[in-house]
Amino acid sequence: METPTNPLLRVLDLEPIAALCKTEGLALLVDSTFATPLNYRPLEHGADVVIHSATKYLNGHDDVLAGAVVGSESVIEEVRKLLHVWGQALDPMAAWLIDRGMKTLGVRVARQNQTALAVAEWCATQPQFAAVHHPGLASHPDHDVAGRILDGLGGMVAVELKGGARAAERFLRALTIAAHAPSLGGVETLVSEPRLTSHAMLTPDARARAGIPDGFLRFSIGLEDADDLIADFAQALAQL
Ligand SMILES: *Cc1c(COP(=O)(O)O)cnc(C)c1O
Repeated sequence: METPTNPLLRVLDLEPIAALCKTEGLALLVDSTFATPLNYRPLEHGADVVIHSATKYLNGHDDVLAGAVVGSESVIEEVRKLLHVWGQALDPMAAWLIDRGMKTLGVRVARQNQTALAVAEWCATQPQFAAVHHPGLASHPDHDVAGRILDGLGGMVAVELKGGARAAERFLRALTIAAHAPSLGGVETLVSEPRLTSHAMLTPDARARAGIPDGFLRFSIGLEDADDLIADFAQALAQL
């Protein structure tokens, strides 16, 4: 499973899923990259294995590709053996950058949780957005479960811009602080279009049915001042 999900930020209550896995004899593997271990720790909710793209928040500076896998000693030993066979060893510079990045993980995530909520609340007041997705908004389908199980609501926000792909293109071109790029979880705010990245393999119809119509944009909120980011989004909207 993945929780919170990309890009709609659905938040799953893992406990009933973990109970089902137990009765069916299945292992529960959870990708919790979006939450970071500060906001959610799936092992505390019945997961057997947790994976993180360390490329994202753990490193936090958009300059490394890496991953982390967390679980019992026997699982990790199995992973270690496979990585030896496959040759996926992290180079020392990348390991050092992640070690250094993680020293500020706590303060980065706390700030990103706060700024993303402020951005989401502002976006929700803008008529040019047909929808705004953030678990801190009462309109989010998992608002209650997120408030109950997460320690922080995360640094991601998604919006549906009215006017489809053409409006999205113009909005992205007008941004002066946020960069148009596909990654997430770094110190700089990035905006991406799932139709061109994670969901490029789906047809426009299938994407729309999945809740990701053309004009859908994902914001990964960085460490910039919230007012500056909101002003940037506002001036980009004004140019549509
Ligand atoms: C980016 C990402 C991945 C892939 O990780 P890489 O480090 O880019 O290989 C997997 N899961 C989630 C949720 C991600 O955001």
